[in-house]
Amino acid sequence: MARVLSLDPFLKRDALPLFWCGGCGNGITLGAIIRSMKALGWTQQNTVVVTGIGCWGKADDYITTNALHGTHGRALAFATGIKAANSDLNVIVLMGDGDAATIGGNHLIHAARRNINVTAIISNNYNYGMTGGQYSGTTPAGLVTTTSPYGHAEEGFDLCDLAVGAGAPFVARGTVYHVVQLEQIIERAMVKEGFSVVDVASPCPTYFGRYNRLGSAPAMLTWLKETAVGLHRWEQMGPEDRAGRFPIGILKDEDRPDFCRRYEEVRTRAQAPKGVTR
Ligand code: SF4
Repeated sequence: MARVLSLDPFLKRDALPLFWCGGCGNGITLGAIIRSMKALGWTQQNTVVVTGIGCWGKADDYITTNALHGTHGRALAFATGIKAANSDLNVIVLMGDGDAATIGGNHLIHAARRNINVTAIISNNYNYGMTGGQYSGTTPAGLVTTTSPYGHAEEGFDLCDLAVGAGAPFVARGTVYHVVQLEQIIERAMVKEGFSVVDVASPCPTYFGRYNRLGSAPAMLTWLKETAVGLHRWEQMGPEDRAGRFPIGILKDEDRPDFCRRYEEVRTRAQAPKGVTR
């Protein structure tokens, strides 16, 4: 109970217990986000949480800030409008891999290209959990889901590579096992000017774990512990050692003006009196 109370004032306690299955990683990520907002001194009034559809899309039910629960795959489109209308707001976007990399993949790459100043926190459990465990854009090749019962025939996106390639200035990956590091990454992402992407590897024991015989929820956390590799060690590993594993940490962090700042410059030029050099 003391732990729950320490999450105030952002946790909507009258909405508890959480909707998610026992052993789901979403609650750990939610805790890291709430603690980060509190540490940064954000308020309910200056913060907007935008969600889409899916298990992780339920997260805004438990947060006391302003919130917008949008349609599937469109959370980033709504968030872009909110930030463009009022750039003083802190805007975070909570999406699953179905929302961010599959139905909403187009919005993800364009938010990165546009460099809109919002923070996307993607709970990546490699399947559509809410609708019964179908494969998503991040399901690795060969793995089993409801819609790939004999093994998935496609390669899954590496969300971080995708975000880096599309131009996001801040890209990081964490896991719900490495929760202290995850919280540090989320805080850095939240204060970054520009589009920041945090890919959070998170267990779905109910579908993805069960179909792929990854064991109980604690066994899936052990799987994350053994599969995720810190950046320093990752850089010293060869291709054979890297196979089936992924790096965690801040993969990209560069400075460039965000969309709102650049749009303001364009507006100033457009509104300058005629004859004034633009
Ligand atoms: Fe979590 Fe999977 Fe259950 Fe959804 S179905 S709440 S992702 S464990």
